[in-house]
Amino acid sequence: MPAYVVGHKIPDSDSIASAIALSYLKTTIGEDAVPARLGELSPETKFILEKFGFEQPMLKTSYAGEGIYIVDHSDKILGPDDIDEAIILGIIDHHKLGDITTSTPLECWIRPVGCTNTIIKMMYDFHSVAIPKNIAGLMMCAILSDTVIFKSPTCTTADIKCVEALAEIAGIEDFKAVGMEMFEVKSAVVGTPVRELVLRDFKDFNMNGKKVGIGQLEVIDLAIFDDMKADLQADIAKLKAEGDRHSVLLLLTDIMKEGSEVLVASDDENLTLNAFGSASSDGKVWLDGVLSRKKQVVPPLQESLI
Ligand code: MG
Ligand code: MG
Ligand code: MG
Repeated sequence: MPAYVVGHKIPDSDSIASAIALSYLKTTIGEDAVPARLGELSPETKFILEKFGFEQPMLKTSYAGEGIYIVDHSDKILGPDDIDEAIILGIIDHHKLGDITTSTPLECWIRPVGCTNTIIKMMYDFHSVAIPKNIAGLMMCAILSDTVIFKSPTCTTADIKCVEALAEIAGIEDFKAVGMEMFEVKSAVVGTPVRELVLRDFKDFNMNGKKVGIGQLEVIDLAIFDDMKADLQADIAKLKAEGDRHSVLLLLTDIMKEGSEVLVASDDENLTLNAFGSASSDGKVWLDGVLSRKKQVVPPLQESLI
């Protein structure tokens, strides 16, 4: 019976590249491992899979009684619904420690770096396994995506060194140009149904008993949202009611201006004032310098929601 490698719900490029890269490593060192995904892929992820010649990992949502490696998260709410019945063989992650626990010993690689693939590169080095060219390209793109081409405050020296090493293996000279190409694909939002945009990179969090959903859209120029902002606001209000959530936030992140306009629907009208020191007006607020949900949005929100 193979082990599965699976990332979080609403998979992003890091979750998918991690599943593929870790499965290859595990298989090479004699374990049978298969990459899997919990949902549909974003245009960015489809673009990088195609660029390096990979198929989509299998869609698999149930893991009861099966061995799994969890990548790119350690929160139950983000994992498979029947995670309590799965045998967790390992966790490889770069987020805050979540609430997944196990009844048997497990392999754990958790580091405060910008991307899970940076940790997987360390695992390849640990096992002295050579990274195939196409997997190196995939891993490199995942790191450029998660670190917003090194602009995110989550980016570390390890991530930069890792991208440089992977670019060399993949034979890519101008990795920043590849990163921009990827963010251009990500910025093509016109014509996409509003709900699809809201949920494109969306995570629910349990913040002191309150369910808070936070979506993020990273684009090269925020002006692209001018005509759809009202629709996006209406939709996050709907999503909040449907999911019995305390709040829903949608970060519209401008990767060139390096900040985010946050659309807010919340039971608490002082939510952004209490968390970020900036009051929202008409359900939105600009947060200068905010690029990272994980590092700059989740912690202050969690602290303010007591
Ligand atoms: Mg992720
Ligand atoms: Mg990640
Ligand atoms: Mg991200």
